[in-house]
Amino acid sequence: MDKFIPLSVPNLKGNELAYVTNAVETEWVSTGGPYVNEFEDKVATYVKAKGAVSCQNGTSGLHIALRVCDVTKEDEVIVPTLTFIAAVNPVKYIGAEPIFMDCDDTLAMDADKLSDFCHNKCSFIQGKLINNNTKKHIKAVVVVHVFGNMADMERIMELADEFNLVVIEDATEAMGTYYMKGNYKGKHAGTIGTIGVYSFNGNKIITTGGGGMIVSNDKELLRRAKHLTTQAKSDELYYTHDEIGYNYRMTNLQAALGLAQLEQLERFIEVKKDNYDLYQEGIKSLKGLRLLKFREDIRPNYWFYGLYCDNEYPLDRDDMIHYLSKKKIQSRPIWGLINEQRPYLANEAYKIEKAKVYLEHVVNIPCSSNLTKEDVLYVLECLKKPTRIN
Ligand SMILES: *Cc1c(COP(=O)(O)O)cnc(C)c1O
Repeated sequence: MDKFIPLSVPNLKGNELAYVTNAVETEWVSTGGPYVNEFEDKVATYVKAKGAVSCQNGTSGLHIALRVCDVTKEDEVIVPTLTFIAAVNPVKYIGAEPIFMDCDDTLAMDADKLSDFCHNKCSFIQGKLINNNTKKHIKAVVVVHVFGNMADMERIMELADEFNLVVIEDATEAMGTYYMKGNYKGKHAGTIGTIGVYSFNGNKIITTGGGGMIVSNDKELLRRAKHLTTQAKSDELYYTHDEIGYNYRMTNLQAALGLAQLEQLERFIEVKKDNYDLYQEGIKSLKGLRLLKFREDIRPNYWFYGLYCDNEYPLDRDDMIHYLSKKKIQSRPIWGLINEQRPYLANEAYKIEKAKVYLEHVVNIPCSSNLTKEDVLYVLECLKKPTRIN
């Protein structure tokens, strides 16, 4: 095949051009235009949250989420080690310290280890979870729904209730994922914890170029989020500011893209599901390969596909990436573990085991919503007859 097959790229064939053109023609290009509020309302409605506050990207959304949940530099925050580093950096922006937790087979935070850590390595004193090691207050946990799967929110919320933890859901990869069963039936990723954040970066399931959205069912948190993302201006005319704010609001141009993308989200998920099923069908019969599954009690958004290469397959992770790249297929390993990154070497990491195994074996394969059936069949063809390339 002559065509290059990218990993995950935007799909902008709906009303994007029409809405952006309208924003330009009406000269509403900055944060003031009508699309921004409309996009916030539509996202809130789609995920069934009480409200939504737009921002420049997922990272700034997570920064604000920590701020409005009153995480301070005195606190510690439990975070996953197997995820994109933007889930954790905002903890450091605040001056707080992360504690790294392992993943389970969903790739999201391991609820058993979280429980062990809270019960055995901490003390619960006067309503506060105190780290025995540092004597600091662990105020929050950042849960990431990796690749559009869902973390075990039932268990995590139980622990959060038991230990008075704020739950910040990094749902940047999981817009459209929701529970089909259990206590949280019908609840979307991002709307179960205290506050949730989506990202509309170019590689996410819908994109605004760069953009993000904070959602919550707590109106007061949303009010504070809007205040902080818009320079904390308490008087429009006289420009009085009651705290240090940020210039984090989304622009009308971004929101124009977002509205057009949101209209297509369910269709993108259908395409991603069909392609996932097609991959699954082909990979089933290949010795040494398996496709990572999504939880059975959810409707996933099928954002990213994880291909697990075990030792029976002729190629290891890096040979696989190299081989696919020669075949013009883009793939990549999951992220380097965050607790092993230079800025985080001094931070506590609790029994990191599974994350290492998944990192060593998983390759992400093409999953864009404009990936065709022919593309998938070609990737499968290549996986069938691997050759080591030196
Ligand atoms: C994409 C992503 C982010 C950051 O979103 P941006 O919009 O790129 O800032 C944060 N966390 C995770 C897990 C992500 O995948």
